Amino acid sequence: MQFYSTNRKVPSVSFKEAVLKGLPNDNGLFLPEIIPHFSSEFLTELPGLTFHEIAREGARLIIEEEISEKDLKTIIEDAFNFDVPINNVHDNIHVLELFHGPTLAFKDFGARFMARVMGYFLKSDDREINILVATSGDTGSAVAQGFLGVEGIKITLLYPKGKVSKIQEQQLTTIGQNVTALEVDGTFDDCQHLVKTAFLDEELNKKFNLSSANSINIARLLPQSFYYTYAFSRLMSNSENIYFCVPSGNLGNLCGGLLAKKMGIPITGFIAASNANDIVPTYLETQKFSPKASIQTISNAMDVGNPSNFSRVLDLYDHDYQKIIADIKGISFNDDETRTLIKEVHGGYKYLMCPHTAIGYGGLKHYLKSGDTGILLSTAHPCKFKDIVEPLILEKVEIPLRLQRIIEKEKQAIPMTKEFADFKSFLFESS
Ligand SMILES: *Cc1c(COP(=O)(O)O)cnc(C)c1O
Repeated sequence: MQFYSTNRKVPSVSFKEAVLKGLPNDNGLFLPEIIPHFSSEFLTELPGLTFHEIAREGARLIIEEEISEKDLKTIIEDAFNFDVPINNVHDNIHVLELFHGPTLAFKDFGARFMARVMGYFLKSDDREINILVATSGDTGSAVAQGFLGVEGIKITLLYPKGKVSKIQEQQLTTIGQNVTALEVDGTFDDCQHLVKTAFLDEELNKKFNLSSANSINIARLLPQSFYYTYAFSRLMSNSENIYFCVPSGNLGNLCGGLLAKKMGIPITGFIAASNANDIVPTYLETQKFSPKASIQTISNAMDVGNPSNFSRVLDLYDHDYQKIIADIKGISFNDDETRTLIKEVHGGYKYLMCPHTAIGYGGLKHYLKSGDTGILLSTAHPCKFKDIVEPLILEKVEIPLRLQRIIEKEKQAIPMTKEFADFKSFLFESS
């Protein structure tokens, strides 16, 4: 299978190249040239298959030429070594909890799979890869945890000093091994600027294989299709119409679902739910895509003003707006509405949601008809947002033991200025 760039200005590449490069040189995004279809036998057997078996088939169809079935099995079992529970919230609304991985957010699926695939390709290649990640919170820890201990890979995380939550900072600065955290005296944009400048710096590129491992890497997208197929398999006998509601920011999670549908999972439709950053709902309503500066909200992982996977959505539907709106509905909720949703569901059904998940719940409530089945993707554990959630429900939110341990560890971060020259000398000196 070859992977093309959505900008179509560079030749297609193998999966290995697409994964190791991350982004094509023409600034497009990689997608498989042909989207394979699940066999009818597979679709019939679905309800009896485990999550790992479903993931293996999804991966095999796309990358079997480059990673053997046996190696894929190992990668999948190792990457997804946590539960993927589905709970019924009430009536026809079910929640797929994607937050049982090490960083308690759905990004663990993409980051852990990508890390193992990169590690696999680097084994037969003596390149050492240096991954630079600018993070405003969650992405950095998911990527770093994913790559923890993977040979041939060094990770440098850059986060803005004083601008991430205490829990997030502990998650970023206590990892150790092949992960170094830099506490940058600046904003998230400064961190991102340092990383972007590094990618363009000739001296650094001569000495290092720099990679970004960002959310648009194709190896992060692919595993995000597996859990749609899995959830579908568990609820397919409930009704004819199955809708997924996806709390959305950069649309990576949504694209995973679109891929599952293209591969033959008969999902009826999707709801892309956003916060006040309503670029996607506005596009779905008006056909106008107008990126804006992002607005800060209490669902901060969705504070995105220019969704980076948008061109993948267009390509997956051959740029046909009518086809897009037939499959995807949009909706947005502001912070007050989000708070009300958290209170309502906790009060009414004893189910506690993080602000992102609450927005998804609001989306399902709005669009779901009786007789339909709705699956809400829960993207983070509510305890990660306890400062927001606790005053709403007037109860303490329990922190799982694995996070408690991280909170108690000693922070290890290297102070860094926002000057590129300082960052560059650091990279040279620490190599
Ligand atoms: C990243 C993230 C999202 C948004 O996912 P996209 O793939 O960027 O649309 C939603 N919720 C949480 C908790 C996240 O970390």
